[in-house]
Amino acid sequence: MPIRRHERFDHLEDPYSVGYRDPTICPTCKLIYHNKHWFWDDELLQELEDKAKKGEIEIYRRDCPACRRIKEHYPMGIVKVRGEFWKEHRDEIFNLIRNEEKRAQKVNPLERIIKMEESEGELIVETTLGVLAHRIGNALEKSYKGKSTYHLSEDQKLLRVEWER
Ligand SMILES: [Zn+2]
Repeated sequence: MPIRRHERFDHLEDPYSVGYRDPTICPTCKLIYHNKHWFWDDELLQELEDKAKKGEIEIYRRDCPACRRIKEHYPMGIVKVRGEFWKEHRDEIFNLIRNEEKRAQKVNPLERIIKMEESEGELIVETTLGVLAHRIGNALEKSYKGKSTYHLSEDQKLLRVEWER
């Protein structure tokens, strides 16, 4: 289904995010699930571990939705960077994409880049959630012009973004 620019993707239900108990610590990236939110907090992590050691609480240890998506290779966003421009501005483009990941993670730490790879002259970026793919498409267009298109799958589980210049 074609989508309009202003539509957002953070409302899409992530089936990986259900069924976590409080508190859960992700053994892979140390993200904490507490009070219905995922976040990094070293101090709280230490506090929870101390309490668990004393037997005061039980900690659930399970990979967070982002680490599961990375391990199972199940992206909700794919960005294809096409054309000749990116090949001549490789470092800049890589930095822009990594910066968008950092910015997205300030809002939601479950936004991750699963992988970036070159394939048949295109740069393919896979993201855990669609919001990050959307951000990257917007940022590329804003910074370097060109044209971004967005396409959400019928089941709303995969956002495909293409940017060409
Ligand atoms: Zn994790």
